[in-house]
Amino acid sequence: MQVPILIVGAGPAGLCSSILLSRLGVRSLVVERHPSTSIHPKATGISTRTMELFRSWGIERRVREAAISARFSSSIRDNLAGPELDRRSLGYATAAEAAAFSPTWAAVLAQDHLEPMLLDHARSYSTGEVRFSTEVVDLEQTDSGVRAAIVDRVTGDRTEIRSRYLVAADGANSPIRRRLGIATHGAERIGEYLSILFRADIDSIVGPELSGLYMLQGLGGPAPSVALPTSGDGRWLLATPWRSDVRPISTLGPDDFVAIVRRAAGTPDLGVEVLDCQVVEIGAEVAERFRDSNVFLVGDAAHRTAPTGGTGMNTAIQSVHNLMWKLAAVLSGNAGDALLDSYDPERRPSGERNVQRSLGRLAGVSALAADLGVVYSSGAIVAGTEQERPAVIEPTSPACVGSRAPHVWVDVHGDRQSTLDLFGANFVLVTGARDEAWREAALNAGGAVDNPLGVASIGGTAIRVVSDDWRSVYGIDADGAVLVRPDGHIAWRSAGAAADATATLEQVMAGVLALDVEERRAAVASRAGTAGRRYG
Ligand SMILES: Cc1cc2nc3c(=O)[nH]c(=O)nc-3n(C[C@H](O)[C@H](O)[C@H](O)COP(=O)(O)OP(=O)(O)OC[C@H]3O[C@@H](n4cnc5c(N)ncnc54)[C@H](O)[C@@H]3O)c2cc1C
Repeated sequence: MQVPILIVGAGPAGLCSSILLSRLGVRSLVVERHPSTSIHPKATGISTRTMELFRSWGIERRVREAAISARFSSSIRDNLAGPELDRRSLGYATAAEAAAFSPTWAAVLAQDHLEPMLLDHARSYSTGEVRFSTEVVDLEQTDSGVRAAIVDRVTGDRTEIRSRYLVAADGANSPIRRRLGIATHGAERIGEYLSILFRADIDSIVGPELSGLYMLQGLGGPAPSVALPTSGDGRWLLATPWRSDVRPISTLGPDDFVAIVRRAAGTPDLGVEVLDCQVVEIGAEVAERFRDSNVFLVGDAAHRTAPTGGTGMNTAIQSVHNLMWKLAAVLSGNAGDALLDSYDPERRPSGERNVQRSLGRLAGVSALAADLGVVYSSGAIVAGTEQERPAVIEPTSPACVGSRAPHVWVDVHGDRQSTLDLFGANFVLVTGARDEAWREAALNAGGAVDNPLGVASIGGTAIRVVSDDWRSVYGIDADGAVLVRPDGHIAWRSAGAAADATATLEQVMAGVLALDVEERRAAVASRAGTAGRRYG
């Protein structure tokens, strides 16, 4: 069997990879060794940036409707029934904090409730196949791609899959990373937690307004225990430090789990229904390289954060958002292979930073900056005179080359939209109202059928704004332009008019896509006759 992209693992990274590729018309196959998506909630915090991505995929509303109503704070107590001793931020911006910078805000939703939504969405595309109970057991890199052996864990049948690229979304212990001999650095093993999923009337114990997390410091042990609501109907998770070498989980009976929950609740006669128990190993580490020829590590396989601070899944989703458009562009011949080398330098700093953040060792970067203010530097960013840029900017700062193109409310043919809604599939040239030269340049320099260059003229007749303030946020004057990549990051900008807009844009596009200008002209010519998607 042949497929352009084989994705190993149907966790958040694998499922979002499938969705992103399908949105770009690329066929993929996800294989997952378990019979279903995760049955144990792990992540519950979905960041503002991840919600922005869900918005652009059309699933934001479904996620929001299923989300739990809880404060983005950690309530510090001795046990759940005890008084609140302190309240700390969970590391997510609140709706009010995010409102000035984003059309959406963070949500609390358990990973085992989110994953089926991602699966449904992945399967809504004819290009995205997802197979469960299917394990990759062997792989070999060839000149033309990857040959993987997969086994159907129900029938035992073994099949060979040939793909151009393989995306290893196979989790923190990544068998593929190990097989490729890619080392990791960081604290590999922080400790074990016993994670008990249960149903009990905790909501009435903790008080009227739920916190996203409860840190319980009165239970003894080497670190506090953690309890979190995972649904609106009394399903909770308790994670308590554990030593399975001292007390294996197999030696515990149902009464033991109930007793552990009652102690954490501080309520000896609490009615408890235990739903699932696991020992979870907590670690933090970053792979030494994210690419090995035609194999790419994504999600926890590339960067595994400690659960504190809730960044693992969000970093995973944002990393595949960075990589998938690049794979699609190279597969379609619109970009050179070197574009794929930009994945590692662009995403490694976020992986490293979020690992440090999860270990409580990152000060001075606000939650919104860590989430929305990531600035990329690589060959796929044409910095020009903006060589000196920080790795992260606060959302109150104007955008810079490499940063996420900022959110501004605009009126598109009478519809209130965010500028973020203009991005997602193709490159988009954002211009001011004096856009003639840039429009012509975009037509000349864009034009490839499967990689059109859209033009969004803000302040023109189709996209209206209340004021011209957006230009100071984007850092251009009325005849400037900003080139936004399919992942919503700024690839390049011209603060004002360019002497030769077509030649400039041609050069920039070729640079970003790792082609030389002549190669790119040939690629465009081979798909001649199709104009870029235009917004107004
Ligand atoms: C207690 C806890 C709380 C957390 N809270 C948060 C939070 O609030 N916010 C947040 O952002 N993150 C949080 N995280 C982290 C988050 O759960 C992970 O970062 C996220 O699951 C990573 O997604 P992934 O797709 O990379 O890997 P995974 O979700 O681990 O998925 C990998 C998949 O690959 C499959 N697989 C592996 N090998 C093979 C193979 N050979 N063939 C086929 N399939 C294979 C596995 O079965 C698995 O399903 C938390 C983690 C824990 C443990």
